[in-house]
Parts: sequence; C-alpha cells; structure tokens
Amino acid sequence: MPTSIAIIGAGIAGLTLGQRLAPMASVTLFEKSRGLGGRMANRRRGEYAFDHGAQYFTARSEGFNKVVTEALAAGSLAIWPQAVPTLTSAGATTADARAGETRYVGAPGMTGLANHLCAGLDIRKEATVASINSEENRWRLSDADHGDLGLFDIVLSTAPAPQTARLMPPTFSGHDALAHTRMSGCFTLMIGLDDKPDLGFDAARIEDETLSFVAVDTTKPGRAGKPALVVHSRNDWAEVNLETDRADVTERMLAALAKCTGRDFREAPWIDLHRWRFANVEQTAGERFLFDPETGLGACGDWCIGNRVEAAFESASSLADTITPLLQKG
Ligand SMILES: Cc1cc2nc3c(=O)[nH]c(=O)nc-3n(C[C@H](O)[C@H](O)[C@H](O)COP(=O)(O)OP(=O)(O)OC[C@H]3O[C@@H](n4cnc5c(N)ncnc54)[C@H](O)[C@@H]3O)c2cc1C
Repeated sequence: MPTSIAIIGAGIAGLTLGQRLAPMASVTLFEKSRGLGGRMANRRRGEYAFDHGAQYFTARSEGFNKVVTEALAAGSLAIWPQAVPTLTSAGATTADARAGETRYVGAPGMTGLANHLCAGLDIRKEATVASINSEENRWRLSDADHGDLGLFDIVLSTAPAPQTARLMPPTFSGHDALAHTRMSGCFTLMIGLDDKPDLGFDAARIEDETLSFVAVDTTKPGRAGKPALVVHSRNDWAEVNLETDRADVTERMLAALAKCTGRDFREAPWIDLHRWRFANVEQTAGERFLFDPETGLGACGDWCIGNRVEAAFESASSLADTITPLLQKG
C-alpha cells in the first residue's frame, strides 16, 4: 500500500507539496473554499473581476523560476506591472525604486498559477478539515459535522499559522514554532467602474495611515470585464479595525483613497469589501517548515519564511525534499 498523505489547503504551498509528493504516495488535498489558490485569489462580481488577495509576485530562486517559466509558457502567468510608483496622502508621487525586477500575475486571474499547479491532483474542494485524531498509528481527519474525511499516514497543514496551531494535535512538535509566528489582517476594497479611471499608474504603493496599495486590476494582461480597482489597507490599521463596522471601514478607505489620488469613488457602481483575517506574516516561524517524522505530522507555508508567494513555494519545496527520501525508503 502506498503511503497515504493528506494535505490541508490548496494554496501555493499545498499545491506545490501535492505536485512533489503525488508521484510517490497516495495524496489527497482538502480545500475549504470553492476555488484554489488561497490568498492568490480572484473573484467575479457581475461585469467585474477583482484579484482581491496578492497583486503580483516575484521569482528569485532557481526552483521557483522554473515553475514560473513553465506557467508563463502555458499562459497561466503574465508579466505585470512594469512600474509601481509610491503615492503619499499629501498627493505626491515618487518613482519605482525597484523597477527592473520582473513581476508576475496569474492569467486570466490571480488563481492562474494554482490552476496550473493543480493538474492531476486529487483535490476535495469545500472540504474543511476540523479535527485530526490519532487512530491505530494513523490520523483520522473529520470535518466540522464530524463527517469522516479519511485515515492517513501523514498529515501536512498549509493553513495560515494560527489556523494550523488550532488544528494540529497537542502531540505535534511544531507548536512552539507556531506560537512564535505572528500574522496580521488586511481589508481589501473592490471598486467597479464604468470608465477607465486614468490614474496615471497601473499599480502604486501608498504611504498613508490607512492604505498600503492600489491597483487598476483591468490593466493586468488577459482581464476581461469593466474597469476594476483593488485597494489594500495597511495591516496595522486592519488589525485595529478588524471588528469595526464594515460600512465604516469602507467609508474610511474611500476617504483615504480620495486624499491620495485626488479622486472620489464613493459613487462608483460597485463597491465591496473583503476582510483577510490572516493576510500578512509579521513574524515567521524561524524554520523553513515543521515536520515530525515520528508522528507523520507537518506544516509549511509562507509563514515559515516570509510574506511572499515565493516563500510559500520555498517552504513547501523544502518540506517535500525532507519527506521524499522517507517515501522512497518505503
Ligand atoms: C491582501 C494580500 C495581499 C498580498 N500581496 C502579495 C503580493 O503582492 N506579493 C506576494 O508575493 N504575496 C502577497 N501576499 C501574500 C501571498 O498571497 C501569500 O504569501 C501566499 O499566497 C501564501 O500561500 P500559502 O499556500 O502559504 O497559504 P494560503 O494561500 O493562505 O493557502 C492556505 C489554504 O488553506 C486553506 N485552508 C485553511 N484552513 C483549512 C482547513 N481547515 N481545511 C481545508 N483548507 C483550509 C485556505 O482556504 C487556503 O486556500 C498577499 C496576501 C494578501 C492576503
């Protein structure tokens, strides 16, 4: 019987693990959402499409560059944006200090990379793992209604660190590292327009007390639909306002956007808000991944290394490097 492995989460870390381990084991991924990609997310609303999580990413390591090159060739990724200037709340704009580094986006939406990486994998969508219990030296996974999700030799969580900490049995050796990790939230405002906004940039960082980033999502390659803006709050501002009334958060983000761009979007035909409870890695676990060979429990994700799509890939690749020889030994 091949080793059975459950992977919790089908973001970049989960899918990377799946691709690496599936040739040597019986691998099942469980994803609580309807779509793949985790925080590399997109959403369609009427005539609008928004990438409401990560906006773009870079690839620095050889391993990640290889995956990115393949996905680019398959049309699942595109290059965007050329420049990311910085706006201030005083209305000033400074040029992109990091211009020259190639930035990538999913195509035709930010989930493009996840959709590329999911090929051939057994993925159960809308399946939330709620508990992991020991049973005859293996692990029994159940959902929130105590529905059985199966019995596995190895269980690997790629959920954000606080969710992984809640899920993992007390015997998991990674609890100290999980407790060391800190993640913060983010609010994302999605604004749908009838006409191109002509702001003078495709994407911009924002130096402001409330906002951190704005993108004209419809300038990304392959995006159909009417003009769409995505605006991220600062993470520290989101942490303070996580339980604030959503209408109030929306109003304050629109007011800050008006100050930084000189444009008032309050009358836009579509305005929506998304709250990310765990968006940004403030403090990493300090280890590239967590794995306990005795129990077969492990975890990985961006929170092990840093706040980037590539960190999720690197953490999962390192965990796969460790597990692969164990599977080959049988
Ligand atoms: C607003 C925002 C902006 C960002 N901007 C950028 C950027 O510009 N550039 C960049 O490089 N990075 C950015 N990031 C960070 C980037 O998105 C992440 O680093 C990366 O996507 C993390 O991938 P991951 O696989 O580790 O985790 P995730 O993408 O969080 O994947 C974890 C998956 O686990 C699933 N899950 C959780 N619990 C369970 C459960 N109990 N059962 C089943 N499934 C479960 C989740 O639904 C999710 O799909 C941004 C993130 C956010 C939120």
